[in-house]
Parts: sequence; structure tokens; C-alpha cells
Amino acid sequence: MRPSEAYVRLFEPPKMAGHFTGKHVVTVEQFTREDMIEVFRTAADFRDRVRHGDRTLLNAAAGRVMATLFYEASTRTDMSFQAAMHRLGGAVVSTSGGVRFSSVYKGENLADTIRAVGCYADVVVLRHPDVGSSYEAAYYLDQLGEQLGRSPVVISGGDGVGEHPTQALLDLFTIVDCKGRADRLTITMVGDLLNGRTVHSLSKLIAQYGAQEVDFCFVSPFSLRMPSYIVDFLHERGYRVMQTGDLYEVLNRSDVIYWTRVQQERFAKPEDYEAIRDDFVMTPEVLGQAKSDAILMHPLPRKNEMGTPRDHDILDADSRAVYFKQMANGMFVRMALLAKVLGAAV
Ligand code: ASP
Repeated sequence: MRPSEAYVRLFEPPKMAGHFTGKHVVTVEQFTREDMIEVFRTAADFRDRVRHGDRTLLNAAAGRVMATLFYEASTRTDMSFQAAMHRLGGAVVSTSGGVRFSSVYKGENLADTIRAVGCYADVVVLRHPDVGSSYEAAYYLDQLGEQLGRSPVVISGGDGVGEHPTQALLDLFTIVDCKGRADRLTITMVGDLLNGRTVHSLSKLIAQYGAQEVDFCFVSPFSLRMPSYIVDFLHERGYRVMQTGDLYEVLNRSDVIYWTRVQQERFAKPEDYEAIRDDFVMTPEVLGQAKSDAILMHPLPRKNEMGTPRDHDILDADSRAVYFKQMANGMFVRMALLAKVLGAAV
């Protein structure tokens, strides 16, 4: 789903266009190719410096505060953002015990909660179940900023079935890192393409990057097909898109295989989830039919769509499986983004 017109009227996201400082991050559409290259260059530099124990990074966000506001569960996004801020020398605040123990529990709306958090932090990482919630947050933070005399920014950590922009940045960074390019690739996304926000953002980001000669293959149960607005976005930019329910039509020519979880929490009826949860299961046998230099990605967490725990072990040992690398890259990409929106000298 796209954010409703009402949200977009509240806040129209500006392009970064080389100027990240003080800008909210709510959609991948804000990033130009040059912006992505700059974020990836910075992330790779930070990765190097962290590996070498470079302590000067601790000056980057010293004295700055990041808040995490998560209305939905998270391990990687939440913790990698927190770790990123710590590694840049900044501080992190969140409500003790998560939003369940904040005034959200008393019925406070997002507009009021985000303004409270904006009073205390320079940057707020928000995950919320409503599509477009980060646009709403951006609007209220801008209003608040006028009173505060400084501009707290929001970074979306995922808005329901909408987008997950920072995940897409780390995903594309990982593709370029592992394949050495974003061009001349067949990129196959598999699973719950309807509700999975990561595949929405990643598809759009690759198109924004202007990757050449990329074919998109979307493999899913019929009821969980990629939303048409994403397919239209790709077509409008000249990309070939194939949609199918048969993985084997595309598996052996895929360079990037992006597997996803069926988003159980988005199903109104448990029986609808049960009916399709095992339609696409990645196992060592399935991976055995992929190209020897393909990469297997997954935003994680994984469940039955990656087989049994024994399958996990075999898949994890396959050099094509890059999802742990992807997960590790998350922190460096988020460090890069934080440093940029905070205007840190690095
Ligand atoms: N962690 C990813 C997300 O928050 C993917 C998932 O939950 O399946 O969207």
C-alpha cells in the first residue's frame, strides 16, 4: 500500500540530492543514484574503520541523541540503529520496556507521542503499523521544530505494509558488495510480495539507482502478488517485470534470490495464512538448482519458508547465502545514514 493522499499532503518528502542534513527519511524515492553511492561509500568506510577499531568515529555524533519508537516487533532494525548510534558516539533513548509501557498504552496518538520524543531527541527511528505514519511523524516534527528552534528528524524503520527504506539501502549495498554491480542482473523476489515492505522498497530503490539491464522476477502465491503500483513504478522506468507462481521458471537464471517470510501478522484470518505458508520453501535442494554464483538474501527473521532448522544449517554453510552479511551491513548503512542526517563531520 502507498501512503494515503492525506499523509502525502501533510508531508511531501524532499529528495536528498546530496544534502542529507536535517532531512526526514520516509521513502526510498528520496534517494538519487548519487545519494546511494554516497551512503554506500560512507558505509564501506565505516565498516573498515570499525574493523580496525578506529576510535575517532566516536566523535561523529557525540552529544547527539537518537530515540527508538517501535510500535511493531524488531530485532535487527532496532538494535542495529542503536548500535550504529553508539558507535558514532551518540546516545540512545527509548521508553523502558518499549511502547507498550509508554503513554501509547494510555491511548496517546502518534502525533502527540512523536512530539514528546522530538523534544528529547535529535533523530527518531519510528516503526509503526500504519502506512504513511512516518510522513505524519515528519509533519509534526517539523511543526515542533519551529517551536524548539532545532529540527528533529524521523527515519522510518518500516511503516506497516508500506516501505522499509533503510532495509532497502542495506539490501542494495549488499548486492553491490557481493556481485560487484547492480547492473545486468536477474533479481528474483519470492514469497509474500503483497505485505512484505522490504521488497516494495528494494524494487523501487533499484529502479531509482537506475540499474541497467535488470530483470525483475516476482514469484508468489497469486493472492500475495506484488502490488500493482510497484510493478507500474518499474514499468514506467523501463524495467522488465515477470510475475509468476512457478519458481522453477526463473530460479536457474536468477543472480539475486531474495526470499521473504509470509507476513503472518498481516493476515486477518489464520486459515488464510495456513493455506499458503508453505507455498515457497527454500531448502538446500531448491538452492541446489540455482546458479553457482547466485546470492541468496533474506531480510530475516526466517520461519518455515527456509525449511527446518537442519535446512537452515545447510543453507547457512552455502557460500551463496549472504543474509548474515546483509544483516551485518545493516549497522554500517545505518551509521552512514545517521551521520549524514545529523550532519556529522566524519
Ligand atoms: N524484518 C523485516 C521487516 O521488518 C522483514 C520481516 O519482518 O519479514 O519488514
